[in-house]
Amino acid sequence: MSSRMTSLNLEIVPVSRVEVAGAEWALGRDGRLVVAAGAAFSRVLADLEGETTGGADGPVLVGPRSRRNAEALRRHLPWLQPVPLGTQTSAGLGDRLGLATPGHVRAVRAVPGIAPIFPQQSIREMTRTGRTPIEVMDDATWGQFSEGWRGGTGADADHLKTTDDIDACLAVGFAMFTIDPSEHVDPSADTAELAALRAKSEALPWAELDDTQAGARQRYLGRSFEVEHLKVSFDEATLLRAEVKYGRAVAHVARMSRHLLAAAAGRPVELEVSVDETDTPTSPAEHYWVASELGRLGVRWVSLAPRFVGRFEKGVDYIGDLALLEQDVAAHAALARHFGPYKLSLHSGSDKFSVYPIAARLAKGLVHLKTAGTSYLEALRTVAGVDPALFREIYAYARGRYETDKVSYHVSAELGRAPLAEDVPAADLPALLEQFDAREILHVTFGSVLKEKRPDGSLLFKDRLFGLLHANPDAYAAHLERHFVRHLRPFAEAR
Ligand SMILES: [Zn+2]
Repeated sequence: MSSRMTSLNLEIVPVSRVEVAGAEWALGRDGRLVVAAGAAFSRVLADLEGETTGGADGPVLVGPRSRRNAEALRRHLPWLQPVPLGTQTSAGLGDRLGLATPGHVRAVRAVPGIAPIFPQQSIREMTRTGRTPIEVMDDATWGQFSEGWRGGTGADADHLKTTDDIDACLAVGFAMFTIDPSEHVDPSADTAELAALRAKSEALPWAELDDTQAGARQRYLGRSFEVEHLKVSFDEATLLRAEVKYGRAVAHVARMSRHLLAAAAGRPVELEVSVDETDTPTSPAEHYWVASELGRLGVRWVSLAPRFVGRFEKGVDYIGDLALLEQDVAAHAALARHFGPYKLSLHSGSDKFSVYPIAARLAKGLVHLKTAGTSYLEALRTVAGVDPALFREIYAYARGRYETDKVSYHVSAELGRAPLAEDVPAADLPALLEQFDAREILHVTFGSVLKEKRPDGSLLFKDRLFGLLHANPDAYAAHLERHFVRHLRPFAEAR
């Protein structure tokens, strides 16, 4: 079809151009939206904002990268509207800066067969980065549009803790809701004496669990359940530990699920249950108990993130015994097939290169890989290549913030092992992103880096960082593509 955009000599990003709803849509070279509507279709423009010029063949609008225009894109280009992904093999590619989606799209294109989730952020990280749910959604929309991505996307409102969190994310079109009941998990159950466990079990909110202590004992105590290769047995200690550790969490998830379904009012949404951010691993018996109790309470979920054995620290490979992890993943994958099938969700999933082949093989495609912060690290890699002095400044600042900022993360970096910024020659700065301690230090201090202000109130780093990324979009996208292709490939190969 002939393009009016070409004949009008409009400066556009060619890969973004698409014809739909009687109009041509594209991203302008200057980052603005360009829409050329056919004469009979000019009403499309009523949904958009910008400057319209007339033409014999119909009006042309050039508009800003605004909220209203992002909403119109999702309405008229329906593949930009997030949908539930079901049990497809999937990957969430969180983006703290709002500029990473083009690179994410390139990685997903390079490794077909993995359903992507471009908009994904936890409320905690939105708070730390000063972003709102609609900003997360819109940034991902513009990123997909600019790359001409028409393969669809999920949208993960991650680590939600309250019904207000659900409402805020539902209102702007998120489709997957990750419920994090970790504040209701009682890790003391792992080591408590039997007498203490009995007392704690008695104090559980049995009415809210639509159950009684006697009823629960009858269903589990002294019984064994076979699930594929697993035999899960409940003696009194095992049952009480599962109840005490996860009973209130199950009640919370059920409450959040009921709220979500009522608020969604028929709109398709999906739910993930995540207990990964707890101190101690989820045993197979505990997974069995949680899944069976959630099912009894009528909760339906598409994925579950257990807390696996060993350590899944942010932005670095798995720390622990891989043979034990393999056993653990095999057990959780069998349980996910038995009670679902639902997907096993790997949180803190970035850089777990030794885990991917194991998880991909054992979960047989029923897996969701969730990564979050390393797109920010690839942004810093871009900075290190383009402006070594700025990178040095950010790194020195991050070292100073680390002891404070690390508290809410699972990390074990030590300042003493991370080189000093001034000791590293400019050419070696990008390699700091491969040094374990420096990498974790840079990873967990992003919120401070983005918010730190000079005495006069201006932002110390954020504006320079964004300016550099806006000026070097292809360098940033290339770093992201290379990084995430390594994450996705093991899952595509196992399919
Ligand atoms: Zn998580």
